[in-house]
Amino acid sequence: MVKKVFLVFLMLVFSLLSVFSVTYVVGTEASFPPFEYVENGKFVGFDMDLIREIGKLYGFDVEIRDISFDSLIPSLMTGNIDIIVAGMTITEEREKVVDFTIPYFSADQSILVRKGEGKNISVLFEKRKIGVQTGTTGDLWVTENLVDKGFLPKGNLTRYDTFNFAVRDLINKNIDAIVLDNPVAQRFTKTDPVEIVGIIKTNENYGMAVAPGNEELLNMLNEGIRQLQENGKIDDLIQKYFE
Ligand code: GLN
Repeated sequence: MVKKVFLVFLMLVFSLLSVFSVTYVVGTEASFPPFEYVENGKFVGFDMDLIREIGKLYGFDVEIRDISFDSLIPSLMTGNIDIIVAGMTITEEREKVVDFTIPYFSADQSILVRKGEGKNISVLFEKRKIGVQTGTTGDLWVTENLVDKGFLPKGNLTRYDTFNFAVRDLINKNIDAIVLDNPVAQRFTKTDPVEIVGIIKTNENYGMAVAPGNEELLNMLNEGIRQLQENGKIDDLIQKYFE
C-alpha cells in the first residue's frame, strides 16, 4: 500500500515536472538587429525578449536556433523548430503555408547606402548593385519592382544569407544599396557608416508563425502577445530596443 502511494506520488511529480519543463524550439535569423542579434555569445533583441516573456507567462523554456531566413518556413514544416520569431512579415503567400499570430510590430522597407556619398533614391534605378536577404519581403520587392520590370539587370541583385554580410559588402563597395526593413536599417545607421535615403511604404506587420493546425500553441502565443500589449511589457521592450 505504502509502495503504491509512493509510486502514484512519483508519477505525479514527474508529470508536474514535465509540465514545467516544456521547451519550444524557436527559429530565427540572428542578423536582424534590434529584433534578433548575437551579443556576448547570446541571442538578444526585441523578438528574443518577447518570446521569452511569453514563455514566462505560460511556463515554457525557449531554445533559440539561428538559421537562414529562407530555411525558417521549411524547418517549421519538417518539425525541426516549433515557432518562427524572426521579424517575419505576415504575407498572403506565407499564410498559405504556416499559421501566423496576431501582429506585434509594423514596418516598411528602407533603402540603405554608404554614408556621405550624396546618393538618393534613384540609386535603385541606375543599374547599380543592390543587396537583399534571400526570401525576405525586401527581396520580393526588388525582384518584382526592379528586376521583373527591367530596371535592374538580374545579375546586379545579390542575395545574402545574413544582413551582416550584406552591410559588410555595402561598406566594402561590393554593392551600392540594400533594401531591408526600416527599423533594422535604422539600427545599422547607428553601428555602421551607412545612411537611409528612402522609405518604401509597404505597410508590413510582423507575426510569429507555427505549423498549420497547431492551434493550441497559436492561441497561447496570441494570448501572450495580447497580455504583453496590455500590461505595457511590449512598450518597455520598444523603449529598450528602439532608443
Ligand atoms: N520582415 C521581412 C520579411 O519577413 C524581413 C525579415 C528578416 O529578414 N528577418 O521578409
